[in-house]
Amino acid sequence: MLQAVTCLPSGNNHLQVTEKEDCSLVVKRARNAFQTGKTRTYQFRYNQLQQLLKLCNDHDQTFAKALQNDLKKGKFESYLFEICVVKNEIKTAMLQLKEWMSPKKVKKSLATVWDDVYIYQQPMGVVLIIGAWNYPVQLVLMPLVGAIAAGNCAVLKPSEIAPATAEALARLLPLYLDNDCFQIVCGGIPETAQLLEQKFDYILYTGSSKVGKIVREAANKHLTPVTLEMGGKSPLYIDDTVNMPLAVKRILWGKCINAGQTCIAPDYILCSKVLQVKLIKEAEKILKEWFGESPLKSPDYCRIINNSHFNRLVEMLRESQVAIGGEINESETMISPTILINVKPTDKVMQDEIFGPLLPIINVESPQEAINFINEREAPLTCYVFTKDKAVQNLFINTTSSGSVCVNETLTHFIVDTMPFGGVGNSGMGAYHGKFTFDTFTHQKSCLVKDYNPIIENLASNRYPPYSDKKLTIM
Ligand code: NAD
Repeated sequence: MLQAVTCLPSGNNHLQVTEKEDCSLVVKRARNAFQTGKTRTYQFRYNQLQQLLKLCNDHDQTFAKALQNDLKKGKFESYLFEICVVKNEIKTAMLQLKEWMSPKKVKKSLATVWDDVYIYQQPMGVVLIIGAWNYPVQLVLMPLVGAIAAGNCAVLKPSEIAPATAEALARLLPLYLDNDCFQIVCGGIPETAQLLEQKFDYILYTGSSKVGKIVREAANKHLTPVTLEMGGKSPLYIDDTVNMPLAVKRILWGKCINAGQTCIAPDYILCSKVLQVKLIKEAEKILKEWFGESPLKSPDYCRIINNSHFNRLVEMLRESQVAIGGEINESETMISPTILINVKPTDKVMQDEIFGPLLPIINVESPQEAINFINEREAPLTCYVFTKDKAVQNLFINTTSSGSVCVNETLTHFIVDTMPFGGVGNSGMGAYHGKFTFDTFTHQKSCLVKDYNPIIENLASNRYPPYSDKKLTIM
C-alpha cells in the first residue's frame, strides 16, 4: 500500500523515492477517504492529533538533525521555533477540540424565534498545504494541526529546498497518521504544479509573493479558497526614548534567528543619524557577547539555505557600506550578522525582502517620515516599533498597514496563538494559528431547523400568496 508519495524533484537526488504515483491519484484517495466520513468524528480527529504529538515526541531529534543538515540550525532554535511551537499547537487543539467543533448557537430574530438556528462547523474536505523551506517542519505541521482538528483530509507539500526535512516528514508521517487521509508529496516546481492542477477544497500556501500569485491563479480555476502566507520587507522604527541595550538585543535576536531567514525578521531599520551611532555601538557589543569574534564558527548561528540564496545576498552586500559584520564563507554558505549604513532606497538591498542576516539602516528624522517611507511601499508582514512614547506607538498602529505590529519586541507575536497570524496585501491573505487555523479549514454552515408546529405556522401564514397591502402592514 502506498504510504508516502515522494516524487524526485528534477536534478535533486537527496530524496528517496518510495513509490511514484500521479498526483491525481493522491487527491482521489484522499477524497474517497473523506467521503467515508471518518475524519468528521471527534474521536478520529483527537486520535490523529494525539498521533501527531507522539510523532513529534518520538522524533524530535530526527527533526533537529534534519534541520541541522538543511540549515545548520542549532538544537535550541530547532526546538524553540519548530518542534515546540508545533507541539503547543497540537496540545491547544486537543484541549479545545470539542468546543471548536460544537455547533454555535446564534441570536435569533423575531421571525425565527421558534426555530433552531446555529452555525455548523463543516470540514472543507481535501486541503492542500504547501510549505516553505525556512521553517520546514513548522510551516507544514502547524497548518496540518488545524486541518485535522477541522475534520479534513490533507495533502502536504514540503519544500524541496530543505530536502533532509522533507525526507524526514515523508518517511515519518505515514507511520503515525491515517495513510488515506493524510498524504505527503515531495518534489519541486513540476510536482507542485501538478498538484495545483487538482481540485482541492482549500489551499494554504507559505512562500514568496511571486509564487503566491501562481498558486492563487491555479486555485481560481477550481474556485478554491486560499490562504497565502507570504513575506515582504518588515520595517523597524526606533527612537531615542528606548532602553537602548535591551532594544538592540531584541532587534538583533529577531534578525539573527535562522540567520535572518525568517518571514517576520526585521528587514531594515528606520532611525535618526544620531541614534544610528549608538545602535551600532551596542550591536557590536551584543554580537560579540553572543557569537564571539567569529559568528561564522558559532554553533548557534545558521547558514544560508543554498548557493543561490547565498549569492543573492552577497550581491546585495557587495554594493553596500558595512558598519558591522560582512564576513562570508562561500563553501559553508554563511554570512555573519551585518549592519549596513548610508543605504539609499534605490539600493539593491532595499528592493526585495532581504531574507538573510543583512540589516540596512535608513535615516529618518521623525516618526512621520518613517511612516511615509513605510506607506510608500507594499504592506509588510510585520511593522516593528521601538519607542516608549505611547502616542508614537499608536501613530504606527493606526496609520500604517501590515499583517501585524510588534512594539519593543521582535518575533514574539508569532507565538501568541490567540491572535491570527497572516499578512495583508502583498504579504498575504487570510491567517492561521490556534483556533484561526481551525476556522481557516472550516466552512461556517448556517443552519435553520424548523418543525411543523401548527400554532407557529398559523402566525406565519401571512407570508403566502395571494398577497395584499393589508398583509404587508402586519409583516
Ligand atoms: P520555496 O522556494 O520553498 O517555495 C514555497 C513552496 O512553493 C515550495 O513548496 C515550492 O515547491 C513551491 N514553489 C516554488 N516555486 C513554484 C512554482 N513556480 N510553481 C509552483 N510551486 C512553486 O520558498 P520561498 O518562496 O523561497 O519562501 C520564502 C518566502 O516565504 C519569503 O518571502 C518569506 O517571507 C515567505 N514566508 C512566509 C511565511 C509566513 O508565514 N507568512 C513563513 C515563511 C516564509
